[in-house]
Amino acid sequence: MLSTLGSLAPAVDIVLEEFSNLGSNRIDLETSFRLACHIDELLKDDTICGCVVTHGTDTLEESAFLANLVISSSKPVVFTGAQRGADQPDADGPRNLADAIAVAASADAADLGTLVVFAGKVLSAIDATKVHTSRLAAYDSSGLGPLGEVDHGAVLITSRPSGYPAIKAQHIETRVDLITLAMGADERLYEAAVASGSRGIVLETFGRGNATPEVVAAVTRATQKGLVTIVTSRCPQGRVLPLYGDGGGRDLEEAGAIFAGRLKGPKARILLCLALANMPEQEIAALFAQFGR
Ligand code: ASP
Repeated sequence: MLSTLGSLAPAVDIVLEEFSNLGSNRIDLETSFRLACHIDELLKDDTICGCVVTHGTDTLEESAFLANLVISSSKPVVFTGAQRGADQPDADGPRNLADAIAVAASADAADLGTLVVFAGKVLSAIDATKVHTSRLAAYDSSGLGPLGEVDHGAVLITSRPSGYPAIKAQHIETRVDLITLAMGADERLYEAAVASGSRGIVLETFGRGNATPEVVAAVTRATQKGLVTIVTSRCPQGRVLPLYGDGGGRDLEEAGAIFAGRLKGPKARILLCLALANMPEQEIAALFAQFGR
């Protein structure tokens, strides 16, 4: 893989390791969790200044966010990938990889949390999301802007997050479902998830965090039995807030659902998978509140 870099290769000593070579549509939560724990271990070595992970773009954002939550080191951890195959004459992988290595080797990139470097942008793993199925600028930051860029090999960090949450994680809960609401949604999908043994459910609701009276009634019943429900929005940008009644966010909050702030559905699911396995349930609301309730 490094041989594809040619003259793009940054002047950095690199130790190469193959953790897995699955298409990222096939990477599961346990594999992604093991990857994050493995990186956390590797970074304890004083001779390693940072880590780059090449990952398929389909679920890269989930592995990067999981790593962000699990890794305690302040050294840069950078995920990257490619939209075009390595056999294409204009493949984007080599440039993305060279940029990612430059960021991982940069002292300026320390203490930023896990990063996604793609098409010249440096993005926080908290907000990075795949926004296009085929264009080279596949990743963006949910409207919040990049933390920096890589320009001709130079790493320019222009904004620093004020903090990012970490979880002392030993395990991951995998029975957590993500359900997107569509016009006229009733309780059937939600109740099917409950009946099949879900330990937690993330709802991708309408707009500001609204559902329907049928879904709210199902959430009320499930919450009373101890199931955790998280509210996110199917909008690509912005926060959820409990503002509306009549099946809206205020009713979901009254039903016991927890609002995920700016976290998008797949990220909220990762957070819930870790939270359910590693902390008391009463602390989960405060954890999600860090994302901007
Ligand atoms: N299907 C591929 C994957 O995510 C696409 C890619 O490599 O970006 O593994």
